Amino acid sequence: MNTDPRFTLIAAAHLFYEQGWMAGTAGSMSARLPDGSFWITVRGCAKQTLTPSDFIRMASDGTVCQRYDPDDYPSSETVVHEAVYATFPKAQACYHIHSIESNLVARFTKAEALRLPPLEMLKGLGVSEEHPQVEIPIFPNHGRASGIAADISARFETYPPTIPACLIRDHGVVTWAPLVEDAQNYIEILEYVFRYMVLARNINVEIFD
Ligand SMILES: [Zn+2]
Repeated sequence: MNTDPRFTLIAAAHLFYEQGWMAGTAGSMSARLPDGSFWITVRGCAKQTLTPSDFIRMASDGTVCQRYDPDDYPSSETVVHEAVYATFPKAQACYHIHSIESNLVARFTKAEALRLPPLEMLKGLGVSEEHPQVEIPIFPNHGRASGIAADISARFETYPPTIPACLIRDHGVVTWAPLVEDAQNYIEILEYVFRYMVLARNINVEIFD
């Protein structure tokens, strides 16, 4: 059995690219190792052709501890992944994609959170209520990812989210999971919910009782 999480990330990236969720070099993915370090995608790498050498291993103190090309740098969004791991110690993987639907649904409200429809699919994100009233937090985008990371740390320290995900306006969605395999499920569930919301608005279907 291969326990290197990079192969799980590579397979997920291929799927996400095919879905149009990681167009060009968009998005970033990471997975933690038992020693607290984590693999993260190299800055500016194409996601449909990822290989194990397109990852950099970061120590928990934010320094690079392994890279294959001295000219490679970790994703510019590494600080966001660090903020997630620091805030949620059980998280073992963090996936971030730039999908059209995540950007559209974030524009359905000007508030700091978006109510999600009470779909059965939410159970896959750990929501067990029969008629769930779930919100996904929304953060403003910043030119520098450090601004996004600071917002995530500050808000979630005081107000932990009810689902392991958040939106960044006009940017995309971030999710984190206790098992690397679960992170792909979470992204697929979120995108299903977002597609449903966009389609429902298109055909004038009321999604809340
Ligand atoms: Zn991004």
